[in-house]
Amino acid sequence: MAESIVKQYYDALGKEKLLGKKCNKCSAITFPPTTACLECGSPDQDWYELSGKGQLLFISHGMAPPPNPRFAEIAPYAYGHIQLEEGVFVQAIITGVSIDPDTLRGYYERGPVAVSPDILEVAGLNVLAFKVA
Ligand SMILES: [Zn+2]
Repeated sequence: MAESIVKQYYDALGKEKLLGKKCNKCSAITFPPTTACLECGSPDQDWYELSGKGQLLFISHGMAPPPNPRFAEIAPYAYGHIQLEEGVFVQAIITGVSIDPDTLRGYYERGPVAVSPDILEVAGLNVLAFKVA
């Protein structure tokens, strides 16, 4: 039996690798990987390792407790929208950033900021986060 896409994705994260799928029909990259291309729906995709380099486009933090109790151990944390250099958009935790309003406003005023992956282990699960480069 083939190893699940989800397991391969999380195992790769543990090795600091971002694995997606690249479509053989339309060349779109699907990240995180799924069984079908997010652009055209084709199941004909190959594994594709993303660089992890990207730009932080938006940063904020939630007023409510973390949506899953496992994230309580790292709360409070900032959350951001990132565009990876391959064009893919990702939402993820941003590490190393104070969540006070002045700091978050500073990122807003600076515009896009370079980020790189910062893989966290939270309650035994590898979690994709990014740090400001
Ligand atoms: Zn496609």
